[in-house]
Amino acid sequence: MHPSTLFALDGLLTDEERAIRQAVRQVCDREIRPHVAGWFESGELPARDLARALGSVGVLGMHLDGYGCAGLGAVAYGLACLELEAADSGLRSLVSVQGSLAMYAIWKYGSEEQKQEWLPPMAAGERIGCFGLTEPDFGSDPAGMRTTAKRDGSDWVLNGTKMWITNGSVADVAVLWARTEDGIRGFLVPAGTPGFSAHDLKRKVSLRASVTSELVCDDVRLPADALLPGARGLSGPLGCLNEARFGIVFGAMGAALDCLETTLAYAADREIFARPLASYQLTQEKLADMALELGKGMLLAIHLGRLKEAGTLTPEQVSAGKLNNVREALDIARKCRTLLGASGITLEYPVIRHAVNLESVLTYEGTSEIHTLVVGRALTGVGAFH
Ligand SMILES: Cc1cc2nc3c(=O)[nH]c(=O)nc-3n(C[C@H](O)[C@H](O)[C@H](O)COP(=O)(O)OP(=O)(O)OC[C@H]3O[C@@H](n4cnc5c(N)ncnc54)[C@H](O)[C@@H]3O)c2cc1C
Repeated sequence: MHPSTLFALDGLLTDEERAIRQAVRQVCDREIRPHVAGWFESGELPARDLARALGSVGVLGMHLDGYGCAGLGAVAYGLACLELEAADSGLRSLVSVQGSLAMYAIWKYGSEEQKQEWLPPMAAGERIGCFGLTEPDFGSDPAGMRTTAKRDGSDWVLNGTKMWITNGSVADVAVLWARTEDGIRGFLVPAGTPGFSAHDLKRKVSLRASVTSELVCDDVRLPADALLPGARGLSGPLGCLNEARFGIVFGAMGAALDCLETTLAYAADREIFARPLASYQLTQEKLADMALELGKGMLLAIHLGRLKEAGTLTPEQVSAGKLNNVREALDIARKCRTLLGASGITLEYPVIRHAVNLESVLTYEGTSEIHTLVVGRALTGVGAFH
């Protein structure tokens, strides 16, 4: 029995949602799965070709309305994230940053001209975006950011450094958050603007099939219309992060599902002491525990998706979903790794790649500790952040 069948999950989805999931799975099978272990090993990604391929099936900004975006529901978007992350968390990161961080910021806070200029080519995958909030000294506490934007006549001049920025060096436009006299504001910085540079972060052992960069602004001069007019204060970037986190609630379950499917097949084939690995009680306990956590995580994801579609999903609920599902996905990946024995440490199987990727997913979009504190504050009414 497939793990999803145990919980009859398909019955919770519409025909359209199942069809979208199938279409994304097909593009992953064709464009990503045959190559992804190689990209991970070399640390190089054909990001432009991939963006076009993903744009052609409509997953970039698929939950946004208008401007070339598909305007689909939250569960459909979540299922696309799940299928992408079943291939690799790095590919889901590319799509999350493009659609839920960069495009969402422009869609939600941009002027009509900014939307017209950037959203259609980004939806098609012709243009790539990145989202620069984190700095070398300020990750969990972005309110401390040091990047500044100062008025000079009608222009803005930006100075500062952003760190760990997904898609950074391949982006055509960076959504950059900076401190102004008026509080934190967002700016659109086109690649090639004098003084703006992106440098890839090498020697990663996690999310290797993903571009991660440092962005430097050295007296970057931008016209007045580079400002995102609708975002004021930290609620601007935090609103975008909430969108991307929602995708991770589903995405992490995709990585876990791929690990479990791989391990079920391996355990059926692998003979140990003249019996299949799957026939041992210790193995079955691990498999059953993993199937339970996967099923519960999927039920949670679909439930949060339905709340999002009804417009009632709260940031605390997204925190609870991200905290639980990434934690459980990582646990599943590690358990699967043990069942594969020595084979579990090679890139011949996707399991160790998912396990090390999930270490990044545990940290970005709010660390597990920060989401624990968000849930703790919701339960007690007392913030324990400071
Ligand atoms: C692969 C990757 C891609 C990324 N992509 C992007 C991107 O595209 N854009 C972007 O802006 N950022 C991005 N990030 C940055 C990411 O969001 C930050 O790494 C994350 O917010 C954590 O910040 P930090 O690494 O500075 O850790 P820190 O904030 O220094 O945290 C260190 C430790 O302290 C803990 N901690 C923090 N505060 C508290 C507290 N109050 N109480 C107890 N413990 C606490 C943390 O949970 C963590 O365990 C990316 C990161 C990675 C790894």
